[in-house]
Amino acid sequence: MSDPVTDTAARLRATFRTGRTQGNDWRTRQLTALRALLTEHRGDFVAALHADLGKGEEEAVRTEVAFTVREIDHALAHLDAWTRPAPAPVPERLAGSTAWSVLEPLGVVLVIGPWNYPAQLVLAPLAGALAAGNCVLVKPSELAPATSALLARLVPHFLDRDAVAVVEGGIPETTALLAQRFDHIFYTGNGAVGRVVMRAAAEHLTPVTLELGGKSPVFVDRDADLAEVATRLVATKYMNAGQTCVAPDYVLTDPGTAPRLVAALAAEIRAVHGEDAAASPAYGRIVNERHFDRLSGLLDSGTVAVGGGRDRATRYLAPTVLTGVSPDAPVMREEIFGPILPIVEVPGLDEAIAFIVARDKPLALYAFTGSATTRDRLLAETSSGAVTFGAPVAHLGVPDLPFGGVGESGMGNYHGPYSMETFSHRKAVLAAPGTV
Ligand code: NAD
Repeated sequence: MSDPVTDTAARLRATFRTGRTQGNDWRTRQLTALRALLTEHRGDFVAALHADLGKGEEEAVRTEVAFTVREIDHALAHLDAWTRPAPAPVPERLAGSTAWSVLEPLGVVLVIGPWNYPAQLVLAPLAGALAAGNCVLVKPSELAPATSALLARLVPHFLDRDAVAVVEGGIPETTALLAQRFDHIFYTGNGAVGRVVMRAAAEHLTPVTLELGGKSPVFVDRDADLAEVATRLVATKYMNAGQTCVAPDYVLTDPGTAPRLVAALAAEIRAVHGEDAAASPAYGRIVNERHFDRLSGLLDSGTVAVGGGRDRATRYLAPTVLTGVSPDAPVMREEIFGPILPIVEVPGLDEAIAFIVARDKPLALYAFTGSATTRDRLLAETSSGAVTFGAPVAHLGVPDLPFGGVGESGMGNYHGPYSMETFSHRKAVLAAPGTV
């Protein structure tokens, strides 16, 4: 029986079979058109992101539009190099043969996005999948309806309609999509749904990339410049009202440093968002009432040292710091995904490392320390999707670094050349002499 989801998937597959998405000229045209979609409709994205999440203009442009444009520009600049065959040395007994590997597009890719960066987190994977020469079906999050509608409206105007499609909807539509056979599924969101996606993919032996979340810790050493730490933590923890997969989730520091860090955080929050962050145009809102209520409940997990103000009607939750948080408090048992920063006191580095490795592998680990030994130990003794020293979240700004998690924080990665590998099959080729 024919239905819109099956028809769309079949249309994309038919397009892929024509071979027209293979050449770098098609890929370049699509990437250029995607860039134009973002830059010509920058104002529409700002408005939609404000409607969905109360994002301020500067943040919306920086983290969604400009970020994705940079990713596209990087792909355009390197496409020829990335698609060049990679020679492989041959061993003595195959002397005279030539060997190389080449990236070939997978076919039809499904991209399922979340609500927190509802443009970037579908358009950056889309850019990677197009750069790799695939047809793509995009399913934006229904929890960011303005951005989802905008994407559904713009994509057919800018991109090859028979190669790229947007299907809007929630669980029923996504379930119908997952029943189809795709050549890759790229999912960003929570681990529970990640399991649903992976189970569905298994039916068709479809490879998956799962970009999940988790609790990204911050280790603050005794020697850290706390004013600087506070600046960098406030900029990243409270961005998008804390609804960022790589946001610092909690701080581990020693009892001597904790009160000084809290004072520095209080001063910095006031400096950035004023006495009342509700009036700050740069400060976002919680996506919906369910998450607002969940976060409100987490405020009881410790002492509110900074912030704590809230308003359910506008889903405003102040930038908040919690102290006196025990390691098994509710706020430490789930990804916070909101503007609440718990400070957990540990005697020192040994205990911090033990704390981190006893829990799920995080998407990122952040540390502020002047000690090379401490850095080396954190790198060697913990596992996470990424590590940054002194720069939470900033690794996303390096286009040649892979972005992805490990264990509960996800599998696979993307961005720049890693998107090319993710959305391609690397085919081995060997040509022996004397037979042709
Ligand atoms: P969400 O609720 O928007 O869900 C993500 C997608 O899954 C949506 O498109 C939704 O329609 C679909 N979905 C939901 N339930 C489904 C079901 N039962 N069956 C099939 N599809 C379903 O977003 P979310 O999961 O709340 O997003 C927040 C989570 O995503 C956090 O854990 C966060 O850390 C993580 N995240 C990770 C990254 C990353 O890049 N690693 C980025 C952003 C968010």
